[in-house]
Amino acid sequence: MPHPRTKSAPAAAPQATLPDREAFTALLGRKGLRVTGQRLAIYDAALAIPDHFTAEDLLDKARAIDDSVSRATVYRALPIMVEAGVIREVDVGRDHKYYIANRDVGGVKIQLVCLDCDKIIEAAAPPIMDWYGKALCAKHNMEPATQRLQVTAHCLGCDRKIAAIRAKAK
Ligand SMILES: [Zn+2]
Repeated sequence: MPHPRTKSAPAAAPQATLPDREAFTALLGRKGLRVTGQRLAIYDAALAIPDHFTAEDLLDKARAIDDSVSRATVYRALPIMVEAGVIREVDVGRDHKYYIANRDVGGVKIQLVCLDCDKIIEAAAPPIMDWYGKALCAKHNMEPATQRLQVTAHCLGCDRKIAAIRAKAK
């Protein structure tokens, strides 16, 4: 099929949001917070987790680096890391939030979310989605900021995973 292009000028380059320790420590400073070993352990832990994580997952990982990290410090660090562009929030319609390190910026993401367990798979969407988002924006005199497609699913054999999760929660 033809690949029409929008006539509008290219969108302004997105701000760099690669995980940046400097951005994180600078933001801590601007908020009047000290750069402590615990806060750097939380930063390192967040970048060491390859997939989506919850605040509790991050606490476990950060404690493996520095066992003096407290739950309160993790919960306070999360919004600062989001603001600094180190991590981003992933809303999958659950009562608890998920986060993922901003390893790759740009491009449209597809999230595959299991409705039964904690599995979230994130993949790059085909270029047609990027084009379509831009074309739709141009049509309505808008400029794209972020694009995401979320597919909910049931992973096969998931009922066993639910049982395991429930047993773990007890
Ligand atoms: Zn599942």
